[in-house]
Formats: sequence, C-alpha cells, structure tokens
Amino acid sequence: MEHLASPIFRGVLMSEVLIRKIAFVTGGGSGIGEASAKALADAGASVAIADVDMVGADRVVAEILENGGIAKSYKLDVSDDLAIGAVIAAIEKDFGGLHIAVNNAGIGGDLAPTGEQTPAGWRKVISVNLDGVFYCMRHEIGAMTRSGGGSIVNMASILGEVGFANSSAYVAAKHGVVGLTKAAAIEYGTAGIRVNSVGPGFISTPLLKILPEEALAGIAAIHPMNRLGTSAEVAALVLFLASPDSSFITGGYYPVDGGYLAK
Ligand code: NAP
Repeated sequence: MEHLASPIFRGVLMSEVLIRKIAFVTGGGSGIGEASAKALADAGASVAIADVDMVGADRVVAEILENGGIAKSYKLDVSDDLAIGAVIAAIEKDFGGLHIAVNNAGIGGDLAPTGEQTPAGWRKVISVNLDGVFYCMRHEIGAMTRSGGGSIVNMASILGEVGFANSSAYVAAKHGVVGLTKAAAIEYGTAGIRVNSVGPGFISTPLLKILPEEALAGIAAIHPMNRLGTSAEVAALVLFLASPDSSFITGGYYPVDGGYLAK
C-alpha cells in the first residue's frame, strides 16, 4: 500500500496536521489498520501500532520509519483488557500521551446461520470485535483525559447498520460498536474527546482474500460502484475523523461503502 500523498489542505500541509499528536491503531499490521496507521504517520502523528501479528506490525513500523515517520509496535490481543491497560500505559511512557485511537482490530468468524452458530464461535467474534473495542476505549479515555482530549475512531462496518446472512455474531458486534460509539460520544462531548464510527463496505484486504475470485466479483457487484473498496479509501475517512478538521463531529457513524447502504 502506498502512503497517502501530502497535498495542501486549507493552507496547511497535510503532513503537518497531526504533528505532535500521538496515535494508537489496533490491528495496525494489516489491511485497513495498516493504511490508517500510515495515513496518520504521513500527517505527522507518532503512531503506536498494536497487533496480535507482530510480523505485520513490525513491517508497518519499518515502512513508516523508512518514510520519515515515527512509529513503534506493541504486541496486543484486544480481547485482553489487562493487556490493553499495560500497552496504553507503555504508550504514555514511550510517547508522552495519547490523542488519537483507531479501534480497528477485528475478525470475520465462522460462517453459519444463527441456529447453527456455536456459543464458542459467537463468543470469539464478540470478544474481539465488541469487547475489544470497549476494553480499548475504557483505557484510551483515561489516557486522552490526561493528554487534554482526543479523537476515537471505531471500525464498525456496513454490517453495523444492516444485517447479513451467516454472520450473526459479526453483525451483532458491529451494531454494538455503533451504539457504544454513540453512548461514549454523549458522555465525553464536553471533555474534549470525540468518538465516531466508520462503516466500510467490502474492502480488498487479507480478511477477504480467503474468498474465491468469483465470490469476490459477486460481492463487488452488490455495491452500486461495482467494485470493492481499498484500505486507503477507508484510511482517508479515518484521518479526517482523527484530525481537527472534524472538530464538531462526534457520535456519528460514517459509511465508506461505494453506495452499499443507499440500496
Ligand atoms: P485484516 O487485514 O485481517 O487486519 C486485521 C488485523 O487485526 C490483522 O493484523 C489481525 O491479525 C489483527 N487482529 C486480529 N485479531 C486481533 C486481536 N484479537 N487483537 C489484535 N489484533 C488482532 O482485516 P481488515 O479487513 O483490515 O479489517 C480491519 C477492521 O475493519 C476489522 O474490524 C473489520 O471487521 C473491519 N471491516 C473490514 C471490512 C473488509 O471488507 N475488509 C469491511 C468492514 C469492516 P491476524 O492477521 O493475525 O488475524
């Protein structure tokens, strides 16, 4: 994935917009998290990249450093609340605070109709995709309060707004992320912490690469733009919601879906 270009935006070089800001991206070693981490770094933020996959996280850190940015990797399973607390404390120590969090780590889970879904399969998806976002937020809010405010961007999905067959745990978790985002936005509106969620349509990332070509073509066709999205297209929205340019935006859910939800 190429880094985003650094155009001039409202008279300010995009490469300066997030200078001196400290960002945390979960699942930053691949796909949408990788693109988001690189976009934030390109805009000047120091980026803490957390992932269960340290090969991916270390690769992304190396690419950001090569590009002149600032980044460090942290091993983290977002379904482990204690571990998140330790990583957030380490980030505050390493970088001096926290201003931006992209709660992006997520898994697809087993495909099965609800009546055939196992409690273990359900729990696994909920523990990463919903519990993980809550656990991250509860530690991020403390750190952002100590840093004088911040912006949290939660990675939901179009499936945070509508249903999809054979994915009940994923759909329930992503609807939960949208609701959690709204509740926290109301609570912290006067505390200088904004909270928004993003709803990607189907995006070409390793998460989807397990599907055969003909299935991917079928999935592309259910988007009015008749293609999959790219991680960079999602990262552009994440960057906007993380930056001061979205200073009056909180509690919102923003699709980036090639028109999927318009149908
Ligand atoms: P991806 O390419 O698979 O990247 C996700 C990253 O998160 C991987 O590095 C993965 O590691 C890591 N991860 C998985 N479980 C984790 C955990 N418990 N703790 C920390 N890191 C963990 O997926 P993606 O497509 O970029 O998806 C990112 C987010 O976007 C997810 O929340 C997903 O639900 C959402 N989303 C994706 C799409 C899409 O079409 N791709 C659409 C809508 C929403 P491993 O590779 O080792 O599992």
